[in-house]
Amino acid sequence: MKVTVSDACIACGICVDACPEVFGLGDDGLAHPLAPEVDPDLEVAVREACEACPVDAIEIED
Ligand code: SF4
Repeated sequence: MKVTVSDACIACGICVDACPEVFGLGDDGLAHPLAPEVDPDLEVAVREACEACPVDAIEIED
């Protein structure tokens, strides 16, 4: 699974709270994936973060 965050991000921090192993806030204040490829053990948490994002900025590619 690969994950990206679009520039629709409003920096609410929900994804970082939901899955800090995968998402972090960058110098621009917006969320970014910490690595392009998601560890299989974290896929459920990433999907939950995606569903929780208020602006649908998280994109998942299986
Ligand atoms: Fe950005 Fe969505 Fe993460 Fe909030 S949940 S920081 S809007 S990507």
